[in-house]
Amino acid sequence: MADEWSASILVIEDEPKYRRLIATNLVMAGYQAREVGDGYLALQELYQNEPDLILLDLRLPDMDGFTLCQRLRKLTTVPILVLTALDTEEALVQSLDLGADDYITKPFSASELTARIRALLRRSQPALTSNGTMPCGRVRLDAKTREMSSGDKTVRLTPTEWRLMREFVLHCGKVLPHEHLLGKVWGPGYQAEHEYLRVYVRRLRQHLEPDPHHPVYLVSHAGIGYALYPDPRGELGGRG
Ligand code: CA
Repeated sequence: MADEWSASILVIEDEPKYRRLIATNLVMAGYQAREVGDGYLALQELYQNEPDLILLDLRLPDMDGFTLCQRLRKLTTVPILVLTALDTEEALVQSLDLGADDYITKPFSASELTARIRALLRRSQPALTSNGTMPCGRVRLDAKTREMSSGDKTVRLTPTEWRLMREFVLHCGKVLPHEHLLGKVWGPGYQAEHEYLRVYVRRLRQHLEPDPHHPVYLVSHAGIGYALYPDPRGELGGRG
């Protein structure tokens, strides 16, 4: 279940006391919490270590919360839960339009907050099974141990392999553009470094393909990107 999985949550809130209180509540509920006090640090943190969910206060000192919400949404697909004292309908509609997934109006209780978080995580991790693994066909990722199983083979992935593989499994069967993968795994400064991606895709194929030289699961789409398929693609002529 999603709530058994120790998700990492990025708390973006400028008031230190309030931020601490939220982070403490999250840790008590079993999550990992990272805290930042402004928009600039939030973006930096996102580049370095993508969280599983973002809690965003709309009133920040250096950046308009709506602008930040929009920028975060361009960089990540993880759920964004907006914290707001602005309980006007207009503000809420605007934040949802800019990519927030849900909002919670201050003041709120710890149980209300964690209930919203659980619901969002459950929605964003549809592939997570009851034993905490993410499947895509015969491939399974274990979020707790960072291991990948494929057929009867299990390997522990390096942090970079994990981030890349997680992206594939979360978008099982979909073609992910090179730039998207590079931005997600290495950061926005690396979107032209196609060789990094080639090297890591080759490593993942060693782990998961029956014949790494003729990949049928982790398939390249020339000039576009890669996709991880739940079933072998040989018969569809999709290899390359
Ligand atoms: Ca604030």
